[in-house]
Amino acid sequence: PPSIVWFRRDLRLRDHPALLAAADRGHDALALFVVDPALTAPAGAARLAFLHGCLRALDEQLGGRLMVADGDPAVVVPRVARSVGATSVHVSADAGPYGRTRDLAVEHALSDVEFVRTGSPYAVTPGRITKADGTSYRVFTPFSRAWAEHGWRTPAKTSASTLHWIEPVDGGLPDPPACSARLPEPGEHAAMAAWEAFRDERLPDYAARRDRPDLDATSRMSPYLRWGCVHPRTLLADLGRRDTAYRTELAWREFYADFLWHRPETARANVNPRFDALRHDTDPARFTAWRRGETGYPIVDAGMRQLLAEGWMHNRVRMITASFLTKDLHLPWWWGARHFMAHLVDADLASNQHGWQWTAGSGTDAAPFYRVFNPVTQGRKFDPDGAYIRRHIPELRHHDGDVHEPRNAPGYPPPIVDHAEERKVALDRYGEISG
Ligand code: FAD
Repeated sequence: PPSIVWFRRDLRLRDHPALLAAADRGHDALALFVVDPALTAPAGAARLAFLHGCLRALDEQLGGRLMVADGDPAVVVPRVARSVGATSVHVSADAGPYGRTRDLAVEHALSDVEFVRTGSPYAVTPGRITKADGTSYRVFTPFSRAWAEHGWRTPAKTSASTLHWIEPVDGGLPDPPACSARLPEPGEHAAMAAWEAFRDERLPDYAARRDRPDLDATSRMSPYLRWGCVHPRTLLADLGRRDTAYRTELAWREFYADFLWHRPETARANVNPRFDALRHDTDPARFTAWRRGETGYPIVDAGMRQLLAEGWMHNRVRMITASFLTKDLHLPWWWGARHFMAHLVDADLASNQHGWQWTAGSGTDAAPFYRVFNPVTQGRKFDPDGAYIRRHIPELRHHDGDVHEPRNAPGYPPPIVDHAEERKVALDRYGEISG
């Protein structure tokens, strides 16, 4: 009997332990992807379009034999298993709160069809690394040390020829969703090409240049890691003993996944409960200005517009825009987090919610709340010539004056708030909860 390989966040054939596990059971397998409305409903067009592209690329690699079915996986997966007479369903383990619950439901519904989890989207499976007393790490640096000591396997050797993909019972790829954002090339081959170009051209200067949004000096691997077009183990093996700055960034991704695995409620709840009492504002007009990139603070607006135009934003600018939402506009961090989740092609619950909590001051070893980013100073420091701002804000493209503090630029709004004043408000409110 065939097995089923149910693809989720592992849209590749290379270095894929769940594929090997399926191959151990026999030659024939059905490749399945389930479009789960619980996951697609909150996703914006860019994320869905990139996902669609990755599925199309995978389908091509499988000789047109990827089955795409819609619905609740706890219903769909057992139905497909029955219809092809499968005796096992193979997956890479999902570490997120929703995925874990869903997988238990699918496993239960499959009853005597075996549900086999092999590997995960991380170098070290979340939950594996604990302190000597068995508890989890709450602080990044000791986690990253333990993570590096724990180590990871070398990439597994899998290839398309390991398995014979059987003809799907029904359900081909739907039409691509309409999307106007400029997206990266999807799929495993594109991921490897992007990685190799980064490794050869930009990795040597990564540590020195990664904070500069104008230079485009980062790897842009996040969308590929999000969908598993490449496994982080492949990147780590390729880095070998080279650059530690890049390895450290990958360790952040693993840390947040591990933390969320241990504390799933922190997808919404403050890690530091003291922040539950922080006073927030709820001004919808300010929120709209932030979302559209019309705050009058150029580095903030450039970031928010990059998000809408590309489904991606540079890390430094994610921090600046998140700081502006929480400390200049005093809006709840989860409002901003939800907007990011809808628009980011790389939207990842663990990295996003904890990136937000880090900036808001409520998270794991968070930035101290009182260190409030000044958006003008941040712009001058990290986009010194204003090239990033000009790239994303057409109204400022030909502005002659200071692009970081434009005065009377036609079509560009004046600042919606006064940073110095709002900083004081933020610090006062913080004072109320930190007594
Ligand atoms: P590179 O600098 O090339 O880094 C390589 C890889 O390391 C990234 O692809 C990513 O997987 C990982 N990484 C780097 N920085 C971080 C970090 N701070 N936290 C976790 N992993 C990191 N990243 C996401 O993948 N998805 C998100 O939804 C997300 N939301 C964020 C929200 C906020 C408010 C903040 C401050 C950060 C968020 N990040 C998120 C982390 C980071 O901004 C992105 O991973 C990074 O910008 C992706 O670009 P890159 O691949 O060129 O990064």
